[in-house]
Amino acid sequence: MKERDHKKHPEDKKVSPPKIWKHEYFKEYLLALGRGPCYFEAIKNFPEEIELSDVWHKTFNQLRRETSDGLERYLFIATDQQSHSILLPRNPVIGSEDKISPEDKFKHFLWGMEKNIDEGDMIGGMHSHPWGSVFSAGDLYDLVYYRHSAVEGLAGKNANAIAFGTRETGNTDFRYLLMDKSQKDFMNYWYSSNGYKRHGAYLRKIDGSPAGFNDILKIESLIAQRHNLVIYRGEPNQPVKRVYPPV
Ligand SMILES: [Zn+2]
Repeated sequence: MKERDHKKHPEDKKVSPPKIWKHEYFKEYLLALGRGPCYFEAIKNFPEEIELSDVWHKTFNQLRRETSDGLERYLFIATDQQSHSILLPRNPVIGSEDKISPEDKFKHFLWGMEKNIDEGDMIGGMHSHPWGSVFSAGDLYDLVYYRHSAVEGLAGKNANAIAFGTRETGNTDFRYLLMDKSQKDFMNYWYSSNGYKRHGAYLRKIDGSPAGFNDILKIESLIAQRHNLVIYRGEPNQPVKRVYPPV
């Protein structure tokens, strides 16, 4: 085929994906995720910016307010196809300073199921950090391993963040993990291979000095790169902007 013929290919007439998702569009995407994994968007189609609805802002702000006591909070994100809405519970689970225990998370899921929310409708979660809005390796694990989660929100002290698994995330593998491929194994790999170690709730450099915001940010990007995740960040009450892949 000649180059100029190629330019006339019908594919070229396709509408390019929007650069900004308005909150209605974001809702439609989340509802689609609730219908099944075939609706995961390709990484190239994610927008540069996502506008959030008042309910999302209220939920992020509630998590941020509550977590000022130094303890993380968590709630699931679920879709309700019948009422065509996204459910964000108002009763987040209270965790510790660096995690939510699997038992407490499970109790929260059971509470949801008692409210007739099917496990399959729970497409992800939102949690808070008493510190910054950077996803830890442990936070990103559920997005990549068996794609237990499709979307994760995070309320930090001064910002909100949202991370998505993408269509391509399903093609990445865990062969680099030699151990049992658990969340702990995943965290150990990403921290130790980049010169860090966990010290209780905190991340430290191998020499024992504390790891800063940029250190954690670096690991977040490396995991996103390896597993084709998309990450957004934004100030409270503002749209979130894509930070990975960089715009
Ligand atoms: Zn976290």
